[in-house]
Amino acid sequence: MKLHEYQSKRLFAAHGVPIPRGDVATTPEEARRIAQELGAPVIVKSQVLVGGRGKAGGIRLAQTPEQAESVARDILALEIKGLPVRKVLVDEAADIRQEIYLGLVVDRAARRTVMMASSEGGVEIEEVARTNPQAIKKVTLDPFLGLRTYQTILLAKEIGLAAGHFQAFDSIARGLYGAYLACDASLAEINPLVVTGKGELLAVDGKMVLDDNGLFRHADLAQMRDVDEETSAEREAREGGLSYVQLDGQIGCMVNGAGLAMATMDIIKHFGGSPANFLDIGGGARAERVATALRLILADPNVKAVLFNIFGGITRCDEVARGILVAFEEVRPAVPLVARLVGTNEVEGCAILEAAGYRLITATTLAEAAQKAVAAASGELAA
Ligand code: GDP
Ligand code: MN
Repeated sequence: MKLHEYQSKRLFAAHGVPIPRGDVATTPEEARRIAQELGAPVIVKSQVLVGGRGKAGGIRLAQTPEQAESVARDILALEIKGLPVRKVLVDEAADIRQEIYLGLVVDRAARRTVMMASSEGGVEIEEVARTNPQAIKKVTLDPFLGLRTYQTILLAKEIGLAAGHFQAFDSIARGLYGAYLACDASLAEINPLVVTGKGELLAVDGKMVLDDNGLFRHADLAQMRDVDEETSAEREAREGGLSYVQLDGQIGCMVNGAGLAMATMDIIKHFGGSPANFLDIGGGARAERVATALRLILADPNVKAVLFNIFGGITRCDEVARGILVAFEEVRPAVPLVARLVGTNEVEGCAILEAAGYRLITATTLAEAAQKAVAAASGELAA
């Protein structure tokens, strides 16, 4: 789950990272009031969960409260990369002398958290990684030792920060690490972390990605989710307890287990088809969840065939079959359906589907199922 800039910065601030004074507005009038209270030039920033806001006109400076109001009006009318702007952050404008990057991310290869810093702040770090990778300095953190001062000072030196800023840099790096740990984040970054005219360090931008699997122990963070930033299918899947990723192929896949789902997608590709989605209905899926899954698949207009690939272990095939029937009550599928139900209660499952009078293409092996699904999607095979 991604957090907005203002949410990330507040969490950083709660861990001792200095951020500009400011507040969030949903109307131009509110933006003017905030600018008035701040009593200084302000920067009005769109709060949308995509990068490159500046280029899209989503970040603008305002010298007076009146100007803040009109700038906020413009920004609130924008759509950035397809996302409507519903909130702006009005921050006291910083007097920027230097922009650096500071971030924490899980490095899967190292199986550790890595802290990265760069003198090339303000630009997207992926861009720096592509064009000037030597400018990114890294230290790997031992999970038991945490972040040590020698590591932050090393980074500070390597990015050419003046020695007078080392202590502040160390304190900010620790604050960032504290927020990252406390929130079960998989990414926390400040870009840019700036040196101001007064010689202070300030986190001007903030970004955080939280691990969804850790959210159950952070009720306060979980409710920060911006539901406007999810497609309705993604929302329905999340609420229904499914792992669902929409893709652009023609074969809708309903599978139990993430590994089996990956294998199913691979084998569809192998036989010349393309999956319309990744979908893991999970172990022991009940009828209701199966129905939600099928609804999601059939709502996708690209879907030309559906492949059920259920390996019954804890999941019972009869339960899945009942779920399929529940979904069929609501959505009459107009596309061919290929079913491979094997394992626990497979005979009962197939019998339930047959008794209901639905014409299914059945298969026993995964290869057979995939080949039939590919043929069905291209109209070469009907039930
Ligand atoms: P992003 O483009 O979506 O990452 O948004 P940022 O918050 O990082 O802002 C982009 C750039 O706008 C920064 O790198 C700065 O150069 C500039 N900027 C942001 N806030 C301020 C500010 O308070 N004062 C000034 N002068 N520039 C700012
Ligand atoms: Mn930024």
